Amino acid sequence: MIATRPRAYHPKMDNTIHHGASLGAAIPSERGFVSRNDSPGRASPSLWPRTPSPEELDALARQSQLLETASPEEIIAWAVKTYFPKLTMATAFGPEGCVILSMLAKIEPRVYVFNLDTGYQFPETLELRDRIAQRYGIVVDLQRPDLSVEEYEKLNGGPVYKTDPDRCCHQRKIEVLQRVARGFDAWMSGIRRDQSPHRAGAPIVGWDKKFGLVKISPLANWTKRQVWDRIVYENIPYNPLHDRGYTSIGCWPCTRAVMFGEDERAGRWSGTGKIECGLHTSD
Ligand code: SF4
Repeated sequence: MIATRPRAYHPKMDNTIHHGASLGAAIPSERGFVSRNDSPGRASPSLWPRTPSPEELDALARQSQLLETASPEEIIAWAVKTYFPKLTMATAFGPEGCVILSMLAKIEPRVYVFNLDTGYQFPETLELRDRIAQRYGIVVDLQRPDLSVEEYEKLNGGPVYKTDPDRCCHQRKIEVLQRVARGFDAWMSGIRRDQSPHRAGAPIVGWDKKFGLVKISPLANWTKRQVWDRIVYENIPYNPLHDRGYTSIGCWPCTRAVMFGEDERAGRWSGTGKIECGLHTSD
């Protein structure tokens, strides 16, 4: 049975900005975090998408620097205090996402969390969504492209992931996130700097021009070991495919188990030269 939870905020439900969320983690004032009134990157939905001023970008960079030594819980608490209810989170139910959800459940479970449901996800991934809901009372919304898999493949004469995976990711992930991004000011992701050279320079807080949002990565400084230590210590639900050699899990046609010694993300788009779906790249 799914536990009841406070209703998640979504701009389509309510356009009134109302702060005052109770925070489960204290934010040390000596860190000099900006107050919510000074919050960098705050956008009006009517102005979306927008280009932040150089001053706002500087403020985000300074904030990111201040948060370099903060714990993930402190970073999430700062994000909630600064941007909720215009804060959202996207998760593919990877181990990092599950850890953040476990933290969010204690800090502010009303944050709107969604999953980009391409139609090609593993059944184990969707089943994990149910277990997260049962454990934390957070029901992750499934955001889907306009076309079903059947309609999409029929329109394109077959699976696009075989012929043009970049276009497939763009149409079934990026465009969906761009649609969801409207009305929010900031989004959280579970990327870690040590996942790949491409992610090594990810800031804790930065401007994501692709989606017109402030992007917050609470686990940027964490290692894979720290993530799994937390999962084991708190018995956080995780995708059972990880126990079968799938270190990074996306859509089933583009994911394989990795071999001993291979890179953590070697099983994604294996053999194609593609290394990212585009959600976490700036171009
Ligand atoms: S990961 Fe593969 S199936 Fe999923 S959207 Fe990208 S190309 Fe398409």
